[in-house]
Amino acid sequence: MSAPDLSVAVAGAGPAGLAAALRLHAAGASVTVLDAAPFVGGRTRTEHVDGGWRIDPGVQLYGSSYAAFFGLLRAAEAEALAQRSPGRDALWRKGRAHEVVYGSPASMLASGALPLQLKLRMGAQYLPYLQRHSADLDLSALERAAAAGLDAESIAAWGRRELGRDFVDLLAAPLLSTLYGTLPDEASAGFYHALARQGLSLEVRALRGGADGFCRAAADRLREGGASIHLSTPVDAVDTAEGGVRVSAGGASQRFDAAVVALPAPEARRVANFLTPAAAETLHGVRVRPAVSLALLLDRPAGVRWFGLSFAPGESRAVAAVCVQENKVAGLVPPGKGLVVAFAQPHAAERLLGAGVDDALALLLPDVARVLPGVDRAVLQARVYDWRHGWTIFGPGSLGRLPVLRSAAFESAPATVLAGDWLYSPTVEGAVTSGLAAADRLLARIR
Ligand SMILES: Cc1cc2nc3c(=O)[nH]c(=O)nc-3n(C[C@H](O)[C@H](O)[C@H](O)COP(=O)(O)OP(=O)(O)OC[C@H]3O[C@@H](n4cnc5c(N)ncnc54)[C@H](O)[C@@H]3O)c2cc1C
Repeated sequence: MSAPDLSVAVAGAGPAGLAAALRLHAAGASVTVLDAAPFVGGRTRTEHVDGGWRIDPGVQLYGSSYAAFFGLLRAAEAEALAQRSPGRDALWRKGRAHEVVYGSPASMLASGALPLQLKLRMGAQYLPYLQRHSADLDLSALERAAAAGLDAESIAAWGRRELGRDFVDLLAAPLLSTLYGTLPDEASAGFYHALARQGLSLEVRALRGGADGFCRAAADRLREGGASIHLSTPVDAVDTAEGGVRVSAGGASQRFDAAVVALPAPEARRVANFLTPAAAETLHGVRVRPAVSLALLLDRPAGVRWFGLSFAPGESRAVAAVCVQENKVAGLVPPGKGLVVAFAQPHAAERLLGAGVDDALALLLPDVARVLPGVDRAVLQARVYDWRHGWTIFGPGSLGRLPVLRSAAFESAPATVLAGDWLYSPTVEGAVTSGLAAADRLLARIR
């Protein structure tokens, strides 16, 4: 069978599913995308609110190193949406905001946020360490860090031993809790080093009109080319059948020649009946945790220079990060107004999953008001967002297991493959890379 004769179902219209769908469609396959939500984008979703607000409750920024993502953004004719974001960040420490360009160890050296001793150790030890291991530290191939022996312990254990407690508290903890919903004790040292290595030369970009710009453009291109996209259609089961697959979704069941299941790992494991017991067990090992964010629509701009603020340990009760949307990119906030998105710390996200806006305000607003005084009196409207499987945790030992996970995802059954950020790295780039790899596997099998 050649690709033009092939009917493929794609479960999930997040970046992984839409990347796979674009590649399969370009190869001539007849593609049907199914998503449980009433919108495309998954965790990159943007919500449009009356009055000209565009809320990005999840994904905020795209790194300049995201080669697969920017390649597909170009292919979807949406490259013009990407704009360099000032990326001006801050660390809340000892009761005030210290400006930094977060994520970049080099920028941290120049900032007042860190004690001099730590800066000296960073310059003399950590930056040379990252340079020495640069070939092993690639976020698209994290298994290399495992092969180099960097995956055996947490960044907390490594950091306390090699660089001291301040490194863990003032660098690793804010970066990991803000951008990856995880804590230094549970993140692999190799994963953190790869992030820090990438940060050495990173520039951050935002999408004009909202973070879902890639997914919306991909969906538009697919529809224009004749593909079908069914929203509000949860997939309940994918089974192998009659030389193809049977997909049960939204109360109906349909046969396709092949399927890509591009869902968070626990959901993929629930619906993918084609997995061998060993493959299902491998997926069971993927750790995820909920993510919760609170959007505050304000009657005035927040009045600060920074975009994203993280907290040193102990400086916030429940909030991991505060992002001021008018400082990210133009077009998200109506003139003269403000929009702040606050992300819950892991323990607060567990408590707030499924909760209403009043509970989220009660738990999160006091921390926001401490760093943005008077914000509580400026709130026009508050909205809460949650994802049961929001963050994939790349803990010690997980990088070494990635090749096993990928073979479970790609090799379990002839006409089905899995995709999702959990197969590469917990970022949109990891998701897009997985979608392209999954599509290539399917196409290679039928050519
Ligand atoms: C709060 C937050 C902030 C983040 N910020 C960034 C950032 O700034 N930069 C970055 O690179 N990454 C960021 N990430 C990570 C990024 O969101 C993910 O890595 C990426 O979205 C994963 O893409 P995916 O396609 O694998 O999964 P998802 O984006 O989760 O897409 C999966 C899709 O599957 C659908 N689905 C689920 N179950 C079913 C079912 N049974 N049937 C049909 N459809 C179903 C969902 O509705 C969803 O549309 C952030 C994550 C969170 C939680």
